[in-house]
Amino acid sequence: MKMTCKNIALLAALLAVACVCEGVTFGQLCQGNPNNMRRTSDIWGQGHYGAPRGSRQHKGLDIECEDGSVVYAPFDVTLNGKVIVYTDPAKAAINDGINLQTDDLCFKLFYVRPDQTSGTVSKGQRLGVMLPMQQVYPGIKSHVHVQMCDKSDPTVYF
Ligand code: ZN
Repeated sequence: MKMTCKNIALLAALLAVACVCEGVTFGQLCQGNPNNMRRTSDIWGQGHYGAPRGSRQHKGLDIECEDGSVVYAPFDVTLNGKVIVYTDPAKAAINDGINLQTDDLCFKLFYVRPDQTSGTVSKGQRLGVMLPMQQVYPGIKSHVHVQMCDKSDPTVYF
């Protein structure tokens, strides 16, 4: 194909779109973890997507976060209500989370007590606080669990 000016302009437009998609990356989620360091392995298991959970699979990605840390909005987000993580009353201390939406992504954060459950929060602003995970899973690397609404792999956005 001969590269006419029109073709070059079209190619440039396509590349610009591709770059926008590649730019969807989570900002800092947790106070004290500026690089979104992931939970690798501890006595309770592993934090990557697809890790075994008994007969099931881990459908999220775990980002380290010490109990009581402030949790930040990783993008400009709309808040879409609370997440019920567990039905087991023994895990009530960490049974909270928040549904979030951006122009590009729909995802959930588990084990976070949200300050509010509707409205919008700007990237880098406080969403809530990390719940006391050590009370329920002593010795675990406390973490925020990031799960896409369609349960696809969130790792590509980190
Ligand atoms: Zn998890």
